[in-house]
Amino acid sequence: MKVKVISRILEANDRIAEDNRRLFNEKGIYVINLMSGPGAGKTSLLVKTIEALKDSVSIGVIEGDITGTEDAERIHSTGVPVVQINTGGACHLDANMIEEVLPELPLDSIQLLFIENVGNLVCPAEFNVGEDIKVMLLSVTEGEDKPLKYPLMFQESAALVLNKVDLLPYLDLDMERLKERAMSLNPKLKVFELSCKTGSGLDAWTDYLFRMVAEKNR
Ligand code: MG
Ligand code: ZN
Repeated sequence: MKVKVISRILEANDRIAEDNRRLFNEKGIYVINLMSGPGAGKTSLLVKTIEALKDSVSIGVIEGDITGTEDAERIHSTGVPVVQINTGGACHLDANMIEEVLPELPLDSIQLLFIENVGNLVCPAEFNVGEDIKVMLLSVTEGEDKPLKYPLMFQESAALVLNKVDLLPYLDLDMERLKERAMSLNPKLKVFELSCKTGSGLDAWTDYLFRMVAEKNR
């Protein structure tokens, strides 16, 4: 009985996700569902990405948090349109929450929409919200065991961003092992190594985004 109920919830979610996707496709908006554990640097990555791309790509952001507006305020200060979802306890965003806030965004003038999911390595990967791709952000301080413990995140993502590489000299992390483990779960995974603090490696990430947005509107 339990299994049946859960599969119905996911089916209902997928129907709404398809509606969202249709709307995004109509408007030519490339959509990224950005997932990570708490504190990996999702909002910092978005701020740096916006700074690098905002003269060439028009960006919008949906911020998901259980409570609070701090992240949305950081995004707002960059000048791009942003809307905050407070899930009130729910540990992930679902398609319905996204559908509800879309009227708050100037969709006709957005080319790249980031959906910053709630910080959580488990269930955000289970819910489609209508995105083009899921991207997983992992801080190198989180260790090389994460692919073993949270495989779905790596399997569902098109890209893996490894943040805080400026800290590598102070860590015992085996970077090659981490990447091998991630790639064995998802051989197509694109991996970016960068530091939001120093800016190293950001170019490869923003070039990738620029190409994906251009491809969607070709
Ligand atoms: Mg955040
Ligand atoms: Zn959840």
